Amino acid sequence: MTHFDIEQAIGGQVRSVSGKNARSATLMEYWQGTASAVVDAIAENWQKTEERYNASRMQHYFSAEFLMGRALLNNLNNLGKIEETKAALATYGQELSDVLEAESDAALGNGGLGRLAACFLDSSATQDLPVRGYGILYRYGLFKQYFDNGFQGEKPDPWMEEGYPFVIRREEEQVLINYADLKVRAIPYDMPITGYGTDNVGTLRLWKAEPMEDFDYNEFNSQNFTGAIVERERVNDISRVLYPNDSSFEGKILRVRQQYFFVSASLQQIVANEIAQRGSLKDFAKNNSIQLNDTHPVLAIPELMRILLDEHDFGWDEAWKIVQGTFAYTNHTVLAEALETWEIAIFERLFPRILEIVREIDRRFREEMAEKGLSEDKINYLAPVSGNRVHMAWIACYASYSINGVAALHTEILKADTLNDWYKLWPEKFNNKTNGVTPRRWLHQCNPRLSALLTELMGSDEWVRDLDKLKELGHYGSDPAVLDRVNEIKHANKVDFAKWIKNRQGIEIDPNAIFDTQIKRLHEYKRQLLNAFYILDLYFQIKEDPSIEVPPRVFIFGAKAAPGYVRAKAIIKLINTIGDLVNDDADVAGRLKVVFVENYNVSPAEHIIPATDVSEQISTAGKEASGTGNMKFMMNGALTLGTMDGANVEIVDSVGHDNAYIFGAEEDELPELRKTYDPRRTAAETPGLQRVVDALVDGTLDDGGTGLFHDLHHSLMTGDWGGADEYYVLGDFASYRETRDRMAKDYYADRRHWAAMVWKNITESGRFSSDRTIRDYAREVWKIEPQKI
Ligand SMILES: *Cc1c(COP(=O)(O)O)cnc(C)c1O
Repeated sequence: MTHFDIEQAIGGQVRSVSGKNARSATLMEYWQGTASAVVDAIAENWQKTEERYNASRMQHYFSAEFLMGRALLNNLNNLGKIEETKAALATYGQELSDVLEAESDAALGNGGLGRLAACFLDSSATQDLPVRGYGILYRYGLFKQYFDNGFQGEKPDPWMEEGYPFVIRREEEQVLINYADLKVRAIPYDMPITGYGTDNVGTLRLWKAEPMEDFDYNEFNSQNFTGAIVERERVNDISRVLYPNDSSFEGKILRVRQQYFFVSASLQQIVANEIAQRGSLKDFAKNNSIQLNDTHPVLAIPELMRILLDEHDFGWDEAWKIVQGTFAYTNHTVLAEALETWEIAIFERLFPRILEIVREIDRRFREEMAEKGLSEDKINYLAPVSGNRVHMAWIACYASYSINGVAALHTEILKADTLNDWYKLWPEKFNNKTNGVTPRRWLHQCNPRLSALLTELMGSDEWVRDLDKLKELGHYGSDPAVLDRVNEIKHANKVDFAKWIKNRQGIEIDPNAIFDTQIKRLHEYKRQLLNAFYILDLYFQIKEDPSIEVPPRVFIFGAKAAPGYVRAKAIIKLINTIGDLVNDDADVAGRLKVVFVENYNVSPAEHIIPATDVSEQISTAGKEASGTGNMKFMMNGALTLGTMDGANVEIVDSVGHDNAYIFGAEEDELPELRKTYDPRRTAAETPGLQRVVDALVDGTLDDGGTGLFHDLHHSLMTGDWGGADEYYVLGDFASYRETRDRMAKDYYADRRHWAAMVWKNITESGRFSSDRTIRDYAREVWKIEPQKI
């Protein structure tokens, strides 16, 4: 696209989407028009890439979630067309930044797991790797969060209702999905995935469910009008909503229906391509590999068996061999109780044939294990079907040629604990692939000031495609001129964020304060409660003695709670209540401020992360599989305040203990500590802590008569199945407070020294680029090579 082309193209597209003179179009219409111009510009390369990939060995990434965020800026950035687009829009009197803000986030995921899938597509496209993503075109993305008197409320997110040029309906490639009680059409919608500095364009294929007939006229004519509507709605339900939950599962039948829907559709398409390319399926596993992102797509295993056995006349052994050569499984949790299982009754109702196949897999598994000499108890525990339930993770472990965790510590815990029995059976299947994030979106695009500095010092933008290159800039960490610029850039980003949040939520914050941030899904194990308790303690300290010295800080939160997760919602209300207390108090004015960013999502993250000084990564050791937020912060020069958990361990390994702030009990210490742990005693004996815990129930903090704060108090002091204070919040409090206080002091004591630590984090972040993760998958698991068009 030349400058002239862009101007023409945008004008033309805006006219065609708005039916108006471009000058009178709305911002939404400008966004639509510009997005359409981008799709038009990449169409040729996209098709070429598709053809090239279809003919090569391909990797298929199956994921129920893709948290893509916004697409327009990312595409313009990848195509190197930002300046030209700015200029072109200016000729119509439009600001690019305003046009970008018209776009909704494609929030087709809950959090880290879905965002990982999105980063992986970006890295695959950038490195010309033949990878295609497959998921569901949810009509409603993750709910929109709003606060009502500090309580979380949820609204639907109809993200593509006004039209979305970045998905293309491929009517001609539709397939049929058969359930015992329903037959539906699956229509693919393809999203182009551009890479940085390459012509290759990858694809994310999202399936939408539609009724067989647009309307059942027989039903309609026989007066059964509502019957026709009900049937139609039952089909539309399948791709209607993303389940707003990332640990346990509800709406079971529909959830399983969704899972089967997208894996069956995707497999049918992959199988059809294999036959078109090679004439048979006998080399299927040689030409295709499928990565299962968690257990949500595990039904693909019996479904591929079904296709091979029933539709292509394979014998069981031959089919099973293909299946075992095809699937690789990524585990995302150490919590055995969070591994999906489904009642057999659900399978019976939806797809008896799949159940039959699962039972046969189960029978053969039991036979094989008995031959190996496993005890009956052990076999019962590991079998695909037991206790009237189907165990999705066990099917994955049995059928996959690769099983990976997502950070070194996580994989070790899987091998030693969660999946230990499987590790003992097949140690060679296990491998680690530490997560990563794309430096295009999470540095180059969201932090233009820092990016410009990196490019200037390096003399090129090579680092955008090869983040390890940043190491070469490490020596600037002793150059005062560069360190001063690093501080200036952070300050400018903080000024930007202050404007953004003022405009969005009406809150005033001081860019000279430390910006201390915790943004991630709300979960007890992530311990937002620990963070909140620290703030409350500081507040009480100031109230007790208003003259004490407290380094000025802005505490930034962003988090959605699953709508049914009562305790997570209680913690949101608590943080907002503490915010009201602190923000309205003249005694603390100028020193503490609490900001809870409403409706946390990818786009807000892009504003918050470049402006953050302190990255809160404070999960109970052993509970966070990897985390990827921690990596985004590191790249943008925030220092980690964290536990030795997930990928924090590897961040510390990269930057050294001098350049991160680590606190708290470690994973291998916790079992011993727990034996004698009594949260009541800890609360009483830790200075200031009793006062904080009491504030939940003594009338200091008002939960609007819901009893939510009493329940939080109960979870800490008495507990349920997991015991009192299951997540060791009070146990780690003293260590957290000491470390966080010290960190704040260090920030103000020597600004250049702080900048040197920041620089170390930025320049050592190469290891956490998803380009590295994808290269490791490509080489060690997927066995694919770049296919440049
Ligand atoms: C990166 C990201 C996450 C994951 O954050 P963690 O801190 O790793 O849990 C969740 N949500 C959004 C919107 C993200 O961008």
